[in-house]
Amino acid sequence: MKDFAGRTAFITGGANGIGLGLARALLAEGVKVAIADIRQNSIDDALDVLDNQEAIGLRMDVSSREEFAEAADEAERRLGPVSLVFNNAGINLFQTIDESSYDDWDWVLGVNLHGVINGVQTFVPRMKERGKGGHVVNTASMASFLAGPVPGIYNCSKFAVRGLSESLRYSLAPHGIGVSALCPGLVKSHIFASDDIRPDKLGARGKPVDKAFNVQLAKVHDSGMNPDEVAAKTLEGIREDKFYI
Ligand code: NAD
Repeated sequence: MKDFAGRTAFITGGANGIGLGLARALLAEGVKVAIADIRQNSIDDALDVLDNQEAIGLRMDVSSREEFAEAADEAERRLGPVSLVFNNAGINLFQTIDESSYDDWDWVLGVNLHGVINGVQTFVPRMKERGKGGHVVNTASMASFLAGPVPGIYNCSKFAVRGLSESLRYSLAPHGIGVSALCPGLVKSHIFASDDIRPDKLGARGKPVDKAFNVQLAKVHDSGMNPDEVAAKTLEGIREDKFYI
């Protein structure tokens, strides 16, 4: 895919961080963009910042199949057929596997893994039926290769996203639909301050982590890429049909 202009993109977690960077980069290429996110206040802020008629905001939870389908219908009704899908929404809990509860597993896998599956199952049949190709980018992470010292469920979810993306790439190739796994290192974003989504989880992200690790993480984090750089790399990766971005 060389030219994005005139296409429609659907970006989950599009109101902050990497998703917002993608929205900005795609709009600059003449793409219509649906920003799908669970935080209404972030959607409002994002639309203000982007200040572009070709962007719309849709409040939805990616872990809900029904909400996903409704948001997809609305995006296509208002912006036309979606041919660029970014399954990007994600959350992180810094807990070891033995210390996390079933509720933690449900939450993180619900967003990071089922959110991607819901995106694939909602949009891929539509894209196949239209027969005009397209591209699906699933945001995995560097953590899909390296199990870090702490984020157990997160690592597990991202290994799974990378695996399902690889499988999907083979099954969708005959339909002219590309698939990529976006695997960034540390990126400056909102993900390290996401307690407002689940106030009952306040502090859970940092609780079992020793202070030295947090300090080390903050240092690396400061030296990481910014969301706009990740977005530019992602668009280049789609153009070159790269699997790993
Ligand atoms: P971010 O917190 O800035 O953005 C994530 C967005 O997802 C937020 O706007 C949030 O409201 C939204 N979201 C969370 N739960 C949701 C749900 N249930 N339904 C819909 N939207 C939901 O974080 P980010 O760093 O931009 O993360 C984007 C993706 O990149 C995630 O999948 C993350 O795991 C991945 N990633 C991030 C880093 C990093 O260092 N920041 C590194 C590698 C991969």
